[in-house]
Amino acid sequence: MTAALRIAVPSKGRLAEPTTRLLREAGIPIPADDRRLLVPIAGQDVELLLARTDDIPTLIRDGAADLGVAGGDQLSEHGADGLAVRVQLGFGACRLVIAVPAGSNIAGSASLAGRRIATSHPVVLGAHLAARGIEADIVTLSGSVELAPTIGAADAICDVVSTGETLRRNGLRELEEVLQSEAVLLARAGASTDERIAILCTAIESVLAARPKRYLMLNTPDAALEAVIALLPGLSAPTVLPLARSGMHAVHAVVDAAELPRLLHPLKEAGATGLLVLPIEHLIP
Ligand code: AMP
Repeated sequence: MTAALRIAVPSKGRLAEPTTRLLREAGIPIPADDRRLLVPIAGQDVELLLARTDDIPTLIRDGAADLGVAGGDQLSEHGADGLAVRVQLGFGACRLVIAVPAGSNIAGSASLAGRRIATSHPVVLGAHLAARGIEADIVTLSGSVELAPTIGAADAICDVVSTGETLRRNGLRELEEVLQSEAVLLARAGASTDERIAILCTAIESVLAARPKRYLMLNTPDAALEAVIALLPGLSAPTVLPLARSGMHAVHAVVDAAELPRLLHPLKEAGATGLLVLPIEHLIP
């Protein structure tokens, strides 16, 4: 028997909760409050390895896990050799930016020359500066990077931000963006022949595709059918089914959740009744 498919999952930190939620929705019933670091999944040929996000790319590269979740920025920093990004996960979105104290006279990348820049992404920052011909002093810190200017350890920082609130709270202003990142599902390069990986990737992709969509069902008198259909956006035509009562049809369509609030009133005005909006668990376009 082949070994169970081992998935490395962040045990804590920003990517932990969205990863667990995604895997559950993709059909892996992760037990709540399991304190073990290696968790067999009941009834499946799968086990979870709870690990630090930073370690996950290495665990996959070295064969200790078959799949795992990490930040795209971590891949850029620690190297993607031997790894393949299988799915862009759409959460953990953030940007690596260079920031300076709000009152600093540093105005653009050129004025970073000769300055000290604190970061926990020295490789990415080094490449960014080298591409612009800027020589600066990179101060590598593993945490609390945003404090470095306040405590006199650096003139600028290069750090990960999502809302920008941490920058503002520390009196910093963004100078420029270095890279954009989101969480990714990783496998070992060349592991594409393992069908279990393909099955799980399709399940995950179908959950991600379904999240921003809703299933809209409504009834309409035949006289209003054309007007109702004209209001419905969508890639393919909606499903139209005759109702048992003559002169009426049911219309079903997959719609963007974000568009729904603006859609309901015109549909009602056009004559639609019995509108139902349902969540979709999986969608393969
Ligand atoms: P962790 O250190 O385990 O919380 O995970 C950090 C990863 O979460 C980073 O490498 C990024 O990919 C991602 N991330 C998303 N938003 C942020 C943020 N505002 N600050 C730091 N990391 C973030």
